[in-house]
Amino acid sequence: MTVWDELVGQPEAVAILSGASRAAAQIVASRRSGATGGDEVLAQMTHAWLFTGPPGSGRSVAARAFAAALQCENGGCGECAACHTVGTGTHADVHMVVPEGLSISVQEMRKIVLTAARAPSGGRWQVVVVEDADRLTEAAANALLKAVEEPPERTVFLLCAPSTHPDDVPVTIRSRCRVVTLRTPPADAVAGVLVSRGVAPEVAEWAAQASQGHVGRANRLARDPDAQARRAAVLAIPASLTNMAACLEAADKLVKAAEEEAAAFAAERNEPEKEALAAAMGAGGTGKGTAAATRSAGAALKDLERKQKSRTTRAQRDALDRALVDLAAFYRDVMLDQAGADVASAHPEAAGDVRRLTALHPEAVLARLDAVLACREALELNVKPRIAVEAMTTALRLP
Ligand SMILES: [Zn+2]
Repeated sequence: MTVWDELVGQPEAVAILSGASRAAAQIVASRRSGATGGDEVLAQMTHAWLFTGPPGSGRSVAARAFAAALQCENGGCGECAACHTVGTGTHADVHMVVPEGLSISVQEMRKIVLTAARAPSGGRWQVVVVEDADRLTEAAANALLKAVEEPPERTVFLLCAPSTHPDDVPVTIRSRCRVVTLRTPPADAVAGVLVSRGVAPEVAEWAAQASQGHVGRANRLARDPDAQARRAAVLAIPASLTNMAACLEAADKLVKAAEEEAAAFAAERNEPEKEALAAAMGAGGTGKGTAAATRSAGAALKDLERKQKSRTTRAQRDALDRALVDLAAFYRDVMLDQAGADVASAHPEAAGDVRRLTALHPEAVLARLDAVLACREALELNVKPRIAVEAMTTALRLP
């Protein structure tokens, strides 16, 4: 299995990226031998790339696969030490910039840009992967722009963002990147990947359909009973909204479920991180200089706690957003049913409730879909989750 097999349903992107990695290998070889290759081949490689596509299309998967292909002696064989270490995020010359909170700070960006300017320790490339380039603060984007404008000879920047829209990536950065566009993979391709990872075919098919081509979600849905239960709870909401009290109760459940999911995620990670920090800071020492060390350890701990808090906030938003995507697909299913369209439904297991809501006027269904999307936008704009969600469930109330 090569690194490209991870890129589900994206033959065009694989063609571009494997071509570029072959050109990159020639550049590495000519650096070593002093010979120069054909310009046409070398033109396939460049220093800055932007991966765009809808959530779940595999932007970061594509960036990681390309990073592995650049570091691998065999163009991304998927088997060597380079491929493995890139895959597990431990390769010395591949730097992952992942926002821990809601944004990527300028300090973090500057640190990465500095590291990336060094010669690669493995002799091939320094690769910087920015997984959510749309979450760069303005200052962080400027720090990155400087590096992308004058990239060190052996440094490659791989940025991921939902689209090339200026809201996602500043025009100044975008104009210096080669864009690779990914599409939502077809459900059968997603199911195929799950089956190859050991999921039973019928479960894989259901999870692929239910996750609307989002590989990560499909994988989780197929394996995690909690995720399945959360999804069932969300799908029960539309038909339950028969009075105001039910609307408020549904909102409360949605918000609490997101909080609980985020808390579980935090509980798993926060304490081990604090312990690792304490160990690194040499907690409990009594020698000379202990007071100064304790002071800086205190600052580092505060910094870590701040990061953890903002990461938990983000996990809450993400969890709530997943629920909203499921709700939106429910109303879409109602519209498809009303139109008699021959399109696969997202929630076959909710077919009974979907059928009940087809009694609504089509415009009323559309208005409810709009209400769900408006809630997503409000959350994006930092409206308090409870307020945004209550406004939504109230708008979803059945006559
Ligand atoms: Zn390899």
